[in-house]
Amino acid sequence: MHHLTPEQIAELREDLLKLREAILRHAEEQIRDPSNVVFEGGDEIDRANIEADRYLNLQRIKTRELKLLRKIDYALMKMEQGIYGVCESCGALIPFERLKARPVANMCINCKEKEEERENE
Ligand SMILES: [Zn+2]
Repeated sequence: MHHLTPEQIAELREDLLKLREAILRHAEEQIRDPSNVVFEGGDEIDRANIEADRYLNLQRIKTRELKLLRKIDYALMKMEQGIYGVCESCGALIPFERLKARPVANMCINCKEKEEERENE
């Protein structure tokens, strides 16, 4: 039994796949963007610093995107298994509205808030 209708699942699956595609496209654009590759002018130290910054930024973006990609794949896997939309912490059913806003959510809003409080301590 599932609290989401097959139509809702199909809609969320579509959202997840679109999000996945957007991330992959964005990553590709960054690799192609010439400003990420060539830097002319400035002395050697400037250039080295700027390139190091840029590299770090790229790494940060990639790490964030990779994390999100993993979450998307995980959500899709759970959909396959029929356990999508269930809070991993308390087992509560996550409402469609929350999943629509955040299709990779794996916790209900209460557990998510509790977790964020812990992280901020
Ligand atoms: Zn919960």
